[in-house]
Amino acid sequence: MVTPMYEPFQQQPPNLVNQYADDRVLRSFLHRVLPAAVLAQVAPELMTMGDRAGGELYRLQLADRRNEPTLTQWNAWGERVDEIELSPLWRRAAHLAAEYGLVALPYEQTYGPTSRLIQFALAYLFHPSTDVYTCPLAMSDGAARTLLRAGDPALIERALPRLTSRDPARCWTSGQWMTELSGGSDVGRSETIARPAPDGSWRLYGRKWFSSATTGQIALALARPDGGAPGARGLTLFYVELRDADGRLQGIQVNRLKDKLGTRKVPTAELHLEGAPARLVGALAGGVRAIVPMLQVTRIWNSVMAAATMRRGIALARDYARRRIAFDVPLSRQPLHVETLAALQTEFEGAFHLSFLVAGLLGADEVGTADEQQTRLLRVLPSVAKLTTGRQVVEVLSEVIEAFGGAGYVEDTGLPALLRDAHVLPIWEGTTNVLALDTLRALAQPGTWEAIIGLAAHTSAGIADPELAAAGRQACAALAHARRWFDAAGARPQLERGARRLALTIGRSLELALLIAHAAWSLAQERDGRARIAAVRFARSPIDLIADDDHDDLALADDQPLPVG
Ligand SMILES: Cc1cc2nc3c(=O)[nH]c(=O)nc-3n(C[C@H](O)[C@H](O)[C@H](O)COP(=O)(O)OP(=O)(O)OC[C@H]3O[C@@H](n4cnc5c(N)ncnc54)[C@H](O)[C@@H]3O)c2cc1C
Repeated sequence: MVTPMYEPFQQQPPNLVNQYADDRVLRSFLHRVLPAAVLAQVAPELMTMGDRAGGELYRLQLADRRNEPTLTQWNAWGERVDEIELSPLWRRAAHLAAEYGLVALPYEQTYGPTSRLIQFALAYLFHPSTDVYTCPLAMSDGAARTLLRAGDPALIERALPRLTSRDPARCWTSGQWMTELSGGSDVGRSETIARPAPDGSWRLYGRKWFSSATTGQIALALARPDGGAPGARGLTLFYVELRDADGRLQGIQVNRLKDKLGTRKVPTAELHLEGAPARLVGALAGGVRAIVPMLQVTRIWNSVMAAATMRRGIALARDYARRRIAFDVPLSRQPLHVETLAALQTEFEGAFHLSFLVAGLLGADEVGTADEQQTRLLRVLPSVAKLTTGRQVVEVLSEVIEAFGGAGYVEDTGLPALLRDAHVLPIWEGTTNVLALDTLRALAQPGTWEAIIGLAAHTSAGIADPELAAAGRQACAALAHARRWFDAAGARPQLERGARRLALTIGRSLELALLIAHAAWSLAQERDGRARIAAVRFARSPIDLIADDDHDDLALADDQPLPVG
């Protein structure tokens, strides 16, 4: 036997435990907002989901790292088949998502207005271990709400029981076909044409440039009835069943799967529609308005999944910091590393509270208990929350990668995928800028500013702790400044130019107000000071981003000459 000359150092990988049991922020929030009887009822489900997320699914995710969806366009006998095979992790995720009712929960309404919170709490635990399987879930949820809102009894009867089924064998998922080569943000440039068929249905012709749920059974698609008005007002919303009774795509070809930076498990495809059978959803015009419920729901999913992604990155970085020794001390006791992780946790907690606030608004709206203020908030906050958390998640995950040093940059740790997957969150369902412009439109509606400022004032009122109270005044002052700037901005180009700073100021001010409210509750009810530190720390980060400047942006953005003097 050969005696080793030295004991080689062996680095321990980061480890995850039960992701529900380990998540102070989620548990504390649910403790505050759910009636005790409801929490007791759903806690076992949250516990098993947390166990899977930190155990079975996380292990499968690491093992599945190299697997990606594959497209087979032709079978051995020369027939065009366009079959997409999903990775093992996604097949398992589909099964579990149906069983846990990740789409079904808010439609079953077992827990009234809190059904949405329970659904999103489960999805938040599920998301980071399933490589963005929440993408088809979000769209299916959005499709269910859109069909209900449109109110066509035949479509509701056909699709709703399947979209919301808990039986994995019966459950459907839906896609959303908006983006075309000619425009994603500007869907008014869509070229897909709808032609009436003799049986009263329609046929769609065109190209859809990003279709992320091509393995789903249905899609909601925008198209222009032949000869219809140009621009967005000429678009109509259609319901498409992708396959015939034998499972063959009907009038649809999959040209290729996208080769993407991240979301590599999501089978995002380019589609060619060659007479795909479709049915009208709602009225002949007004398709963009008809698809608003879909966007509202998917933007809320996006926000919650941004919070979930941040939480996963931090959980891994926190565990690793306890295992990694540098300069004879674990990273978890190196003051500067600790400060870095604390800053990430602070951003995550702000994002968590904003995204779950919006989820709660949706729940209240669905059961008809939303008051006027909540209804106004639900019009504006899905965009604000999506754009705010979308920027936060990219910054947080970038720092998470660095927190692992070189290991964070190495593929078989599974870590780089976290950052890549995070980077889709500010892009799809509306980019940061496009949602900032959307926020301007919502702010122009009467009562919107009052609802936002009222929320911050009410949330941070009556706080005894002097530092929290000061932070509350800071949140309200930032919103008041934002409103003054909005009222004074005047011309459209000036307003648009500042729209991102405006929307982010609203998002960050509300995050601060919500952190304060939760901190006060947690101090009093849980005797825990951690939420307070998060709120106070967050108050020291940039909240008011309004800039009353007037630089010539074209000089830099388009490198236009700028003569001096
Ligand atoms: C992985 C992935 C999956 C996707 N899946 C789907 C799907 O299933 N279904 C679907 O319909 N779409 C899907 N998309 C498409 C996505 O929604 C669009 O890419 C997105 O909406 C942006 O549209 P675009 O790509 O045309 O970019 P553009 O609209 O061309 O935007 C380019 C840039 O210009 C900015 N910009 C645009 N207009 C303005 C303006 N007026 N003022 C200031 N800035 C502006 C944007 O912020 C962006 O930075 C997916 C995208 C990705 C990456």
